[in-house]
Amino acid sequence: MDLGIKGKWALVCAASKGLGKGCATALAREGVNVVITARGAETLEATAAELRRLPGAGQVIAVAGDIATPENRKAALAACPQVDILVNNAGGPPPGDFRDWSRDEWIQAIDTNMLTPIELIKATVDAMCERGFGRIVNITSSSVKAPIDVLGLSNGARSGLTGFVAGLARQSRLASRNVTINNLLPGIFDTDRVTATLKGQAAKTGKTIEELKEARKATVPARRYGTPEEFGQVCAFLCSAQAAYLTGQNILLDGGAYPGTY
Ligand code: NAP
Repeated sequence: MDLGIKGKWALVCAASKGLGKGCATALAREGVNVVITARGAETLEATAAELRRLPGAGQVIAVAGDIATPENRKAALAACPQVDILVNNAGGPPPGDFRDWSRDEWIQAIDTNMLTPIELIKATVDAMCERGFGRIVNITSSSVKAPIDVLGLSNGARSGLTGFVAGLARQSRLASRNVTINNLLPGIFDTDRVTATLKGQAAKTGKTIEELKEARKATVPARRYGTPEEFGQVCAFLCSAQAAYLTGQNILLDGGAYPGTY
């Protein structure tokens, strides 16, 4: 299916690896011009080179820097001639016990996983409305629907973003101008972040990474981890011309792991 977005410009944040890269790849395959960001310049440049080699890819621009800082957000926005598609993403906050978290740790989580996407939406959404096309996808987490106790910083900051977006997406000023905002909620996906977490658990428990991975897979009805590629393809659909009537939704991609009906 032609998604009808060839030639559009996308800013895909935190996209040198993992889920962000999956989104940038799927969009580049559709002929969308992409600006990608990440803090580590070397991996980012390598990803940009990979994307440029994709059949049908348009322009690919890499902007290195922490997206949670105003100057790096400014640089990323400046590199994108117009933002038709915005994919908000960044690293997730660390796990822990809320008794140990200081105000600074809370502020950092809120800054990165709530206020940064809101700032980027603020910087782009009105121009999207004027042009009559806009797609915003926020990568959040299944923990928004089913909180994970040790991820309190993530549960809190991402729920704040989710609540804000729920109100904004429903403004007729946006929806009637073909501007949609949706959240994509990953369950468990095979990315570097997850491998690093497994390494930490292996060191603590004495189990092998493979054993831990198998145990985790057993909790997912699909009996496997998701792939960044399939995550990216759903993101690309949310950004498509065809998805114009789909807004304000929290879409779980978790292989059936969430146990609720709604
Ligand atoms: P990943 O494989 O570690 O990739 C993270 C990407 O984001 C890298 O390109 C990283 O590059 C970049 N990045 C991180 N912090 C950044 C920042 N402040 N500014 C700019 N770029 C930044 O992680 P992932 O698994 O794709 O996870 C992406 C998001 O989804 C995270 O928020 C994670 O918590 C959430 N999530 C993931 C899963 C899962 O199963 N994978 C499940 C639920 C939620 P640099 O390090 O070079 O900046």
